[in-house]
Amino acid sequence: MGVPRAHSTRGQKGRRRSHLAMKPMVFSKCSHCGKPQMPHLACKFCGYYGGKEVVNVLARELKRKEKHHGKK
Ligand SMILES: [Zn+2]
Repeated sequence: MGVPRAHSTRGQKGRRRSHLAMKPMVFSKCSHCGKPQMPHLACKFCGYYGGKEVVNVLARELKRKEKHHGKK
């Protein structure tokens, strides 16, 4: 680990950390089902993006269940 060369003041730390705050998550509404959805990603609930179905949600759910069938 590096050794600090000089003492950094409270003000310096504050100025550096002024950019570290977390921003609230941004959601947009799905154009197909109206549920809150992350922008630039296909909808989690219906698999639509840009007015088209890009992910078959039912098939994915079935696959997931199959995968976890043997476990637990
Ligand atoms: Zn949707």
